[in-house]
Amino acid sequence: MALRILIVEDEQGIVDNVTYALETEGFATVSCKTGAEALQALAKGSIDLIILDIGLPDRTGFDLCKDIRKTSSVPIIFLTARAKEVDRIVGLELGGDDYVVKPFSPRELAARVKAVFRRLGNGEARPAAAKTPFQVDKQRCVISYFGQPLDLSRYEFKILEVLIEKPGRVFSREQIMERAWEEPEASLDRTVDTHIKTLRAKLHKIRPKADPIQTHRGFGYALKESW
Ligand code: CA
Repeated sequence: MALRILIVEDEQGIVDNVTYALETEGFATVSCKTGAEALQALAKGSIDLIILDIGLPDRTGFDLCKDIRKTSSVPIIFLTARAKEVDRIVGLELGGDDYVVKPFSPRELAARVKAVFRRLGNGEARPAAAKTPFQVDKQRCVISYFGQPLDLSRYEFKILEVLIEKPGRVFSREQIMERAWEEPEASLDRTVDTHIKTLRAKLHKIRPKADPIQTHRGFGYALKESW
C-alpha cells in the first residue's frame, strides 16, 4: 500500500504542485488548509508523513507541530517562507524532521520526503560503502573513491564525509557548514561552493563521467544515490 502524506498548506497552488510531485513518486496524498483540519485528519489515522506549512490561517505550523508531538511521532517536514525561521526549525526543539524554504521545486520536496522515509526505514547505521564507491577511513581521515585514496584538504574531506553519510539526502550550504565547519558563522556560503568545485575536480580525475556530487539548484548538494 502507498505511504500516505498529509499536506497542510493554505496556498492551493502549492498544494497542487506538491500533490502532483508526490503522487508521481507513488505516494498517496491528502491535504487540508488549517491546523484544526490537520489534527482531524491525523486523528483518523494512517498518515505516514506530514508536510507542514508554517504560516497557516488559524495557527503557526510550529504550534501545531508541538501539539502533534504530544501524541504522535509521525515525520514532519516544514515548509517555510522565511529563511530566518530556519534557525528555529533546525534547533528542532519542535520535533520536525526536515524543512524546505519557499520557493522550492516540488521535485526537491519529493526527494526530501523519500530521504526521510529512507532514514526511518533503514536506520542510521547503514554503511555508505555498501551503496557507493566511497570508503571512509575515519581514523586516518582518508576517503577512497573506486579504491583510490583521495588527496583532500580538511574541508573537502569533511564536506564529502557529510554527503557520503546520507546518499541522496540534499544538504543546503548552511547544513553542510554546520556539520563540517567548526565555526560556521565565520565562513561565507560561497566557500562551500569553492570546496565542492575542487572536490569535483579531484573526483573527475578518477572517473571523468561519474559525477557523484549533484547540485540541487536553490537547495544545495547531494551525493548520487544509485550507482
Ligand atoms: Ca501559508
